[in-house]
Amino acid sequence: MNVKNIKAYGTEAADAALGQLNINRRAVNTMDVEIDILFCGVCHSDLHFARNDWGMTQYPVVPGHEIVGRVIQVGGGVNKYKVGDLVAVGCLVDSCRTCKNCKNDLEQYCPEWVGTYGGYDKHLETNTHGGYSESIVVDEAFVLRVPENLDQAGIAPVLCAGITTWSPLRHWKVGKDSKVAVVGLGGLGHMAIKLADALGAHVTLFSRSTNKIKDAKALGADEVIISTDEAQMQKALGRFDLILDTVPYAHDLNPYVGTLNTNGTLVVVGYLGPLDPLLMTVPMIMGRKSVAGSLIGGIAETQELLDFCGKHNIISDVEVINIQDINKAYERMLKSDVHYRFVIDMKSLKK
Ligand code: NAP
Ligand code: ZN
Ligand code: ZN
Repeated sequence: MNVKNIKAYGTEAADAALGQLNINRRAVNTMDVEIDILFCGVCHSDLHFARNDWGMTQYPVVPGHEIVGRVIQVGGGVNKYKVGDLVAVGCLVDSCRTCKNCKNDLEQYCPEWVGTYGGYDKHLETNTHGGYSESIVVDEAFVLRVPENLDQAGIAPVLCAGITTWSPLRHWKVGKDSKVAVVGLGGLGHMAIKLADALGAHVTLFSRSTNKIKDAKALGADEVIISTDEAQMQKALGRFDLILDTVPYAHDLNPYVGTLNTNGTLVVVGYLGPLDPLLMTVPMIMGRKSVAGSLIGGIAETQELLDFCGKHNIISDVEVINIQDINKAYERMLKSDVHYRFVIDMKSLKK
């Protein structure tokens, strides 16, 4: 089949730095949209995937699933988009479209969903490659419209960090009477604070970092609890309706369960893997509390969020970098030194 060879940034091995490589994109099919990538956010999942933290990576990997760009070509059957439109692609580029989840706008839970990177491109018969690249070709059903009033770098993180926190906020019906807490102030955490605040909730941040208190309040948090301070944790017992836990590594969930109200839910969106230490059931039984998980969001819900951000002028707080600085950005991410999302200016790849 016809392919287009383009420049990208990625890695060939878990212990290798990211560097420039070339990849193929499929030629534009009838329902496809070709997008010139302007900005791409840097998610902690990119780092997990590049370094094979989840044990399922096939190389080479080109990460990036917070993509904003302009349409440069459309297939003959495309009617949602035209050349010049400002569009976005998040974590999903395809699904089966027929299962119950797909029919209910929950494509992220389709057993056949195709990730923007590390998925399987049935047209090219190779792995999909993400947004650390010059351009991408995606079926129009998985392309989102970006409100033109928003900063193009600032809106990119909404495609993953935003939707991953928005989806549970909406599912658990957060509104002005809700008491929401967020664990970890990084990419997901800062979007969770902004979005819960915009929905009218009372928002608390749990952080290990005492140097993030001022920032958290500026982002919309009503209060900050330092999670390593026993006395502060003790005072927080029984207070929250919903907790969004964004921490990327194994950590003790039990202290956070204790801070849930009766009927409260702790939603894990960060760490994938077995819990260590184990979860104690008694506090859950004694308060009808739940511990749940949540994965990104469907296409319709992501469009809902982009439109909400357009209306309320919400964007991510970003540090724009050149692609050549990606390895340094990963090192800073590992030290929780992100304020609060790196976004790559993809012009730097085209130079
Ligand atoms: P990030 O920007 O690196 O932020 C993570 C934050 O967690 C840090 O800023 C830090 O906040 C806290 N933290 C880091 N290491 C910790 C540790 N060992 N113990 C306790 N707290 C720690 O990461 P992100 O991009 O927001 O991603 C967060 C996680 O969500 C990643 O694992 C990513 O793969 C996952 N993710 C899941 C989904 C989904 O659909 N469920 C979607 C996207 C990403 P403080 O300094 O405030 O403590
Ligand atoms: Zn992500
Ligand atoms: Zn499906």
